[in-house]
Amino acid sequence: GESMPKQKINPHKVALEQFDGAAKKLGLSESTIAMIKYPKRVLEVSIPVRMDNGKIKRFVGWRAQHSTARGPAKGGIRYHPDVTRDEVKALATWMTWKCAIVDLPFGGAKGGIRCNPKEMSKGEIERLTRRYASEIGPFIGPDKDIPAPDVNTNAQIMAWIMDTVSVNLGHSVPGVVTGKPLQVGGSLGRNEATGRGCIFTIIETAKYLGIDLKKATAVIQGYGNAGSVAARLLDNLGVKIIAVSDSRGGVYSEKGLNSTEILKHKQETGSVVDYPDTKNITNEELLELKCDILVPAALENQITKENAHNIKAKIVAEAANGPTTPEADKILEHQGIFVIPDVLCNAGGVIVSCFEWQQNLKWDKWPEKEVNEKLEKKMIGAFDKVYNLYLKHGVSMRLAAYMVGVKRVAEASEIRGLYP
Ligand code: NAD
Repeated sequence: GESMPKQKINPHKVALEQFDGAAKKLGLSESTIAMIKYPKRVLEVSIPVRMDNGKIKRFVGWRAQHSTARGPAKGGIRYHPDVTRDEVKALATWMTWKCAIVDLPFGGAKGGIRCNPKEMSKGEIERLTRRYASEIGPFIGPDKDIPAPDVNTNAQIMAWIMDTVSVNLGHSVPGVVTGKPLQVGGSLGRNEATGRGCIFTIIETAKYLGIDLKKATAVIQGYGNAGSVAARLLDNLGVKIIAVSDSRGGVYSEKGLNSTEILKHKQETGSVVDYPDTKNITNEELLELKCDILVPAALENQITKENAHNIKAKIVAEAANGPTTPEADKILEHQGIFVIPDVLCNAGGVIVSCFEWQQNLKWDKWPEKEVNEKLEKKMIGAFDKVYNLYLKHGVSMRLAAYMVGVKRVAEASEIRGLYP
């Protein structure tokens, strides 16, 4: 490929640019824009952690709350060496629009710690998590801001956050985080919710575009919570998965891959790479494969102006947040590629997080069937609303989705008014 070094793209700038597009199309006033465009607050914390070698190491972390206009702030926590303040701000902003698009009573938030969990022991990760939870403790709570899992965080980490907050307050507060283990107030269906929600949007899209999923092929970038579940559900639908990847690289097979066997291989070896009878490929090569459905399910800025011209998929289903830059968006649109935008495509996670929070507030438990049916209804309802705007205004699916989300947040802010 290209020998030019990859230009660093600031995700917060991307988020602001996307907002501006929607604000313009909606004709929002300068005053409304001033109230809703930027994060409400960003907390930066130092996290000293006693490492296994006895020394204390300092980590830096953030919790950004973009909006609480429609309800408590809501969004995941990411552990990654590349986390920045601006990345967290962007992810918090996207959460605000996402929650509004699927009409949840939430604003948007996100947290992150700059660390490499792959080089840390379980004990170190637990101490890091508990100290971070303590530092952001005064800012989170079931009525304030409710974290959840994101890249490199999971149900166990959510349990430690819930426990830390509960111990500090002197009573159990299950509703302070979602994505918890079932034993401590987690919801059935939460683990699969992001992938499952993503599949509902793919099914709807295929219907509208006249694509027969039983004859379709798919490529998945990232094989974690979002990607591996999406792969398995596509597999179940009869879609042929021809390539998958993770941070170490990808594998390709013309004959198709068994999503479950690949997951076993990743759990045993740490990566999907070197799976028997496949060809190892790079993440760059993977994105440019000819296929019907491309599912980016890893990180931001994967489809850029450098490679957008080479994308050959018919549908790009954004399970990840921010995988496509605005420049790339225009190129994909020009090529007639149908993009299911992140704020719609991956909203299943926060939808079932909302169900989990509702169960926690009432100390209740819903059957999995009920969770999945409610998820499907919410996803399809939101998809159809966005799709109708897309047809009516002849705009991209992303702009249509933003028009729904930004409008709802603008209305809530205007009706609430400005204090003081
Ligand atoms: P995860 O940690 O479970 O999995 C991330 C996967 O991406 C891993 O397989 C990792 O190896 C891979 N990866 C990391 N860097 C990569 C790279 N440069 N190229 C290719 N693969 C790479 O995380 P997740 O929860 O599945 O999150 C993935 C994406 O989905 C993120 O953008 C996240 O914000 C988004 N998302 C997650 C949820 C959720 O409920 N977990 C909800 C909505 C959106």
